[in-house]
Amino acid sequence: MHCLCETSAKRGGCDGEADIRLSPLCLECEERGCKAPPLRIAQIHGRPSVATVQDYLPSNYYVRQRLDGTIFVEGYDDHGWTLDGYVIPRLGSGLIAAREVTGA
Ligand SMILES: [Zn+2]
Ligand SMILES: [Zn+2]
Repeated sequence: MHCLCETSAKRGGCDGEADIRLSPLCLECEERGCKAPPLRIAQIHGRPSVATVQDYLPSNYYVRQRLDGTIFVEGYDDHGWTLDGYVIPRLGSGLIAAREVTGA
């Protein structure tokens, strides 16, 4: 997905590519120390498969499964593609319950 740099966003954005599972920033922005949006995490309740959950996510969010089987959705808000405004309601439309984890 594209780099989510918040420093160059004020100057028209960054064209770099970022690997969302590693960083919301491209390598250049990482080195420059640009400002990045905060990581947001939601826990999935019930037992849907990882693949099912993944199908509901935009490219700025991804699935992480813990060893105990608990599934989390993690990522960084990008314009309207936000955790509470898009990801959680979208999962809900597929009857998958998710709740944001904060301060953990
Ligand atoms: Zn960048
Ligand atoms: Zn940058």
